[in-house]
Amino acid sequence: MCGIVGYVGPRNSINIIVSGLHRLEYRGYDSAGIALCLKNNEKLVLVKTPGKISDLETAISKALPVKDNRTFTLGIGHTRWATHGVPNQVNAHPHLSRSGEFAIVHNGIIENYADLKSRLIKQGYTFKSDTDSEVIAHLIEQCYEGNLKGAVAATMERLEGTYGIAVISSKHPDTIVAARKGSPIAVGICDGETIIASDISAIINYTKQVIFLNDGDIITATASNIDISSVKNIPVSREMTHIDWDIRDIEKGGYEHFMLKEIHEQPLTIANAIRGRLMEAEGTAKLSGMQMDPREMARIDRIAIAACGTSYHAGMVGKYYFEDIAGMSSEIQQAAEFRDRNPIIQRDTCLVAISQSGETADTLAAVREAHQKGATVLGICNVVGSTIAREAGCGVYLHAGPEIGVASTKAFTSQVSVLAMLAIAFARTRRLSVNAGREMIHQLSVMPKIAEQVIAQESIIIKIAEKYAGSRDFFYIGRGYMYPAALEGALKLKEISYIHAEGYHASELKHGPIALLEKNVPVVALVPNVPAKIKTMGNIQECKARNAPVIAIATEGDNDVRSLCDDVIFIPPCDEFLTPIPVTIAEQLLAYHIARIRGCPIDQPRNLAKSVTVE
Ligand code: GLU
Repeated sequence: MCGIVGYVGPRNSINIIVSGLHRLEYRGYDSAGIALCLKNNEKLVLVKTPGKISDLETAISKALPVKDNRTFTLGIGHTRWATHGVPNQVNAHPHLSRSGEFAIVHNGIIENYADLKSRLIKQGYTFKSDTDSEVIAHLIEQCYEGNLKGAVAATMERLEGTYGIAVISSKHPDTIVAARKGSPIAVGICDGETIIASDISAIINYTKQVIFLNDGDIITATASNIDISSVKNIPVSREMTHIDWDIRDIEKGGYEHFMLKEIHEQPLTIANAIRGRLMEAEGTAKLSGMQMDPREMARIDRIAIAACGTSYHAGMVGKYYFEDIAGMSSEIQQAAEFRDRNPIIQRDTCLVAISQSGETADTLAAVREAHQKGATVLGICNVVGSTIAREAGCGVYLHAGPEIGVASTKAFTSQVSVLAMLAIAFARTRRLSVNAGREMIHQLSVMPKIAEQVIAQESIIIKIAEKYAGSRDFFYIGRGYMYPAALEGALKLKEISYIHAEGYHASELKHGPIALLEKNVPVVALVPNVPAKIKTMGNIQECKARNAPVIAIATEGDNDVRSLCDDVIFIPPCDEFLTPIPVTIAEQLLAYHIARIRGCPIDQPRNLAKSVTVE
């Protein structure tokens, strides 16, 4: 989950690595470090610190004051999301080998580290850190016989678990070796310099030409050359991917937080998700990455959806789409559960794997399990060239641009838009008539406008946020499409404000949680004007009878809701199947402003990280 950056080239690597780490900080931010190399056999310079990249910058300026004008043309850096060992200076990466001649940074978990560590200790090695990663540095040194790549390959043969690693050695001051198994490594191809990173955000400032390593690949990079091979030293060639993200996409552009910027981007990102894909005349959607013609689509009878976190909530909406719109049997599972449970996959099953980053470890494991069982696998990802996008076989990109805020916002509404298009496309190979399809496609086409209208309510939402920001607990309730929206609203609030929040199907309140309601526990009730509203209104009455304040998200002009509830956020009228989009945008703004008023570090909430690449 961490960030890795490596540089080799004529420039001073410090600035390139530190600015890359800043871009990756959303992936892990409990401690950070850098290892630098100057000349053959000269000691590696190591600077590490607990805290953020700004703390690392301070530590670097103390360790290497300006008058030290040496140009370190080789270096690796890391921003950590601790899995083994508390976030302190010793546990921060890079880790050095016993002689200090090899430095490594690692993303992932070495599952057999305890065994390897005790063997190394018996052989006389001493360990400085509590991490699982330090074994890698010692093993590389132990396996080294004059060839750095050979030592990394021999080490990989001993490692179990997941890793993206980058390695430098004072014996090879012009070379970085990197390798992956389960955690991403991308290589930026520039003129006369090479940048390696765990995420393209650290690269696109320098080049748009990127190569993604596959599992088991090892890359040996100098400033002018790269060479990729397998662990068995068989050369492999990997395609270059052109990344069309712009550097402005990964900057805040005047907003206080990435999250707010990304919430505001949604009219555009939804437009990007549907652009060129809506076939209004045919009443269907065309998703070219799907690579399935109507005959193949008609053969699929069952949809299994696997995802985690916010993507899981989008997947729940998707499940309802496949049932409601396409009349297909469909189920959703947490991706980890999908793999752990030995799922039943039939020949006519299509697994839809949803992951913003395309690197979510559990979702990737589900993809591999589904392939193993012979399913058709379709990925819905945002990051072009990501592992799930490449391994899925077929897929649909969100085109939402980079999502940097740890709490996912724009990816959710794009995922829902893509799932709606998918369900309509499947439905048109079944019972959905061209006219009904046209109507749905038309409804989808106005979603960017609707998103804009919800965002225009921000000042009203801020007032509501001010009123409730001091609460310790929140409940979110809804039915039908509003049930996943309730789960997502509660998740958003707890992620960034640290308020305890729970989402429930509105009918479930009285089966237990209602015991917790009292005047200081607000309930967010999702009641757009849909048939289920009448029942949720009854549940709101139950909350009011226990003195709980109710904040409703309802359809413009709904006076019944206005007179019953304490506060109301209005959304424009839209078809029931699309209500999760405007309702979630309102929830995102409410969560954001509550967290802002509470002074929370919104883009880097405690204990979380973007892109969960460990299982
Ligand atoms: N497992 C390693 C550690 O705890 C790497 C964690 C990460 O990916 O940041 O240090």
